[in-house]
Amino acid sequence: MRIILLGPPGAGKGTQARLIAEHYGIALISTGDMLRDAVNAGTALGKKANAYMTEGRLVPDNVIIEIVMERITAPDCKTGFLLDGFPRTLAQAQALRKASIVIDYIINIRVDDTHIVERMEGRRVHPQSGRVYHLKYNPPANLNKDDITGEPLIQREDDKQETIKKRLSIHHEQTTPLLNYFTEWSETDSDAPYFSDIDGVGSVKEVSQRLLSTLEGRSLGFETITDTNFDTLVEMHPLLVIIFTAKWCNPCHALIKTCVKLAKEYPDVVFGAIDVDEQPSLVEEFDVQSVPAVMVLRERVVIFAETGLLLPSALRSLLKRAKSLKA
Ligand code: ADP
Ligand code: AMP
Repeated sequence: MRIILLGPPGAGKGTQARLIAEHYGIALISTGDMLRDAVNAGTALGKKANAYMTEGRLVPDNVIIEIVMERITAPDCKTGFLLDGFPRTLAQAQALRKASIVIDYIINIRVDDTHIVERMEGRRVHPQSGRVYHLKYNPPANLNKDDITGEPLIQREDDKQETIKKRLSIHHEQTTPLLNYFTEWSETDSDAPYFSDIDGVGSVKEVSQRLLSTLEGRSLGFETITDTNFDTLVEMHPLLVIIFTAKWCNPCHALIKTCVKLAKEYPDVVFGAIDVDEQPSLVEEFDVQSVPAVMVLRERVVIFAETGLLLPSALRSLLKRAKSLKA
């Protein structure tokens, strides 16, 4: 699973990034954290970046592109990664695309400026780990102390009112155009990342539920299939595509992405997923090894698909076969 989280500074990207990266067991890459570590360590990168960051300006594209390109080749990114804070300019997005780095999902977290100012002013961080708190919305158990280590929390240099305004205006000027760029890309290229946005206003838990729903296709009618709802789903839907997935399986996420795209083309077809780790009895019953398969179950047509069907064209031809069976 390779994910990019977009959104204005203070939208909650870092907060959500931690939860999502942990959920999928993927590497978390926060360019802001990498730069702050470099500043604290006094490295050449830190010396270059320091003035830009303190003033709320963006670090030059060539600097940031180089560190991200290097970071994503590290071994911990093999199972996937989540980018928080990159890309932030068109040049950064184009560099990612030009390098043919496969990204499965790009999710923009929408929060308007009035909420942003309050969020950034109340933000407190544990600099050693990057853990993020909010005085009012996400307070630590003990005032100004990190929940895990008990070490003091600090307010970021760039979370002062004047810098916040500057960062927001830079965001609107340089990062907002990325939304059009990714919309256009996803509409014109079937291999493009799946691009969507979610409402970032609500509790941290509510926002992470929206994010997970989008990442698992549930918000687009993708059903989570369990042994309790399996029969009802088959009975309710004349044509059902079921895929086998696992949280740790990168190709499975790509297959969900394919299905989510096809779901728009085939509104009469219902798509769903069986998690192989959570539903062992269903996996046994339908023998994952024998898929892809088109089956008639209780007079309903069911397609079982696995990661051999990553290409939308392959799934399309199965759907054609299934439709003729249904007729
Ligand atoms: P970003 O990484 O996008 O700059 P953060 O994750 O650091 O944003 O969040 C900014 C501030 O808002 C932090 O203080 C965080 O605790 C708080 N925050 C995050 N999500 C929410 C939320 N859903 N509601 C209210 N405050 C939030
Ligand atoms: P963040 O922690 O994401 O809010 O980033 C803090 C600061 O780091 C930003 O205000 C920029 O100065 C710098 N920075 C982080 N990511 C990038 C990026 N992709 N491009 C340019 N500057 C960045």
